[in-house]
Amino acid sequence: MAQRETSAVRGDDEPLLSVENLQTAFFTDKETIRAVDGVSFDIHRGETVGIVGESGSGKSVTARSIMGLVDSPGRVLEGSSIRFDGEELTEKTEKQYRNLRGSEIAMVFQDPLTSLNPVYTVGNQIKEALRLHQDLRGSEATEEAIELLEAVGIPDAARRVREYPHEFSGGMRQRAVIAMALACDPELLICDEPTTALDVTIQAQILELLEELQEERDLAIMFITHDMGVIAEISDRVNVMYAGEIVESAPVEALYENPRHPYTKGLLQSIPGNQPGADRLSTIEGDVPTPNEPASYCRFEPRCPKAFEECTRVHPASIEVNADAEDHTAACLLYPEDVSQMEAVELHEQRESQREVSER
Ligand code: SF4
Repeated sequence: MAQRETSAVRGDDEPLLSVENLQTAFFTDKETIRAVDGVSFDIHRGETVGIVGESGSGKSVTARSIMGLVDSPGRVLEGSSIRFDGEELTEKTEKQYRNLRGSEIAMVFQDPLTSLNPVYTVGNQIKEALRLHQDLRGSEATEEAIELLEAVGIPDAARRVREYPHEFSGGMRQRAVIAMALACDPELLICDEPTTALDVTIQAQILELLEELQEERDLAIMFITHDMGVIAEISDRVNVMYAGEIVESAPVEALYENPRHPYTKGLLQSIPGNQPGADRLSTIEGDVPTPNEPASYCRFEPRCPKAFEECTRVHPASIEVNADAEDHTAACLLYPEDVSQMEAVELHEQRESQREVSER
């Protein structure tokens, strides 16, 4: 398959994906769950953006919202914007969305068996994707399927193309799913915990494979995981999610060297090996709350070691952590760090009231 012209060559500054104020809620008789509550981020071509957080933080619902796969009783709310390659996805019909899924945007899930049909050979499933998305058939499609299996590091691909999913190991199945995703020649690949079920060695191989494929194809990758170690390996930029919101966003080095949000600090401290000398692994006490009311306070407050009185009545806006760090934001009343705490709280109050006015 021909390599794409890279974004660096094109001098392309526009993000491929731009998510703005994404709100996805689930409506039940009892309550409205704001699974994704005002999330904004961009992904450029050739960039990997990691989304990290505990389960229940809204990572997967964010991905499903972008893919147009939110099932009833959930829906993406008015005022949300998802722009992909200049087109607004929230206005697409189901049919238009179906054409986009698996062609320009493909998704790889945690369990490869959810994407592979056990009664068809792996080769036939890749060939079906090639027929649908690249109009390839017959021997041409078989050759391309073999090439794709080779591209994702499956040895003896000419033989394995005729095998069924159960004849593949877990790691090989995930490679086959990635090959299927690539058969659609996507521009954006959304990976939802793709390595969680795999052992550490295979996990490292899949991460390496994704990096190689990204470089060859100038792919944009959105990588979702709960694992801070994995996110450090693969991401250029990291968004930390908590209870439906992005609470910290920064380039990967800045986030690991100088995390600012107390939640990010807690996540990093719970990585084994990150606290030399400690006899027990530090964990964040408590659970992620269900975001079932509008955020008029900090949702991390009950678990936050730095909480103070205002945290229970002011919702923190996403704010630059200091005057020199426009690329590093945290939604925490302790920031910006170069003003007094009182001034910081006032700034958050102002930003929040501006947001409320603009949403009216
Ligand atoms: S706003 Fe307050 S409770 Fe929330 S993370 Fe910051 S210090 Fe903790």
